[in-house]
Amino acid sequence: MAGEPQDDCLFCKIAAGQIPATIVRETETTVAFRDISPQAPTHVLVIPRAHYENAAALAAGAPEVAADVLREAQAVADEDKAESYRVVFNTGAGAGQTVFHAHAHVLAGRGLHWPPG
Ligand code: 5GP
Ligand code: ZN
Repeated sequence: MAGEPQDDCLFCKIAAGQIPATIVRETETTVAFRDISPQAPTHVLVIPRAHYENAAALAAGAPEVAADVLREAQAVADEDKAESYRVVFNTGAGAGQTVFHAHAHVLAGRGLHWPPG
């Protein structure tokens, strides 16, 4: 069922504390932790605790939690004293999505070229 934890999902396990991560912020509905393979000085993933395959599924199934994710992205940037930052939701394997549990990449701390690759 939408939102239910999935046994085979890495980020469900991180949200449940079953796999360690460097957690930077937690709320009732979200967890933010540092990416294991950072692409910028600040590279934090903000995930909903509930399992949705991607950001659009999250927005459709739990719009208030999608808003929480965006609010937490700002909070992460504030904590790392980043005035500018980029939020990325890779959606689909062709766009580089490798973990099919919705997550916002929050990137900051270096020049962020536009358009991105
Ligand atoms: P995607 O490619 O799906 O947009 O993003 C998945 C991200 O999860 C990647 O940037 C990858 O480095 C990160 N990642 C994969 N496995 C782990 C893990 O076990 N711990 C943490 N902290 N990040 C992970
Ligand atoms: Zn999951």
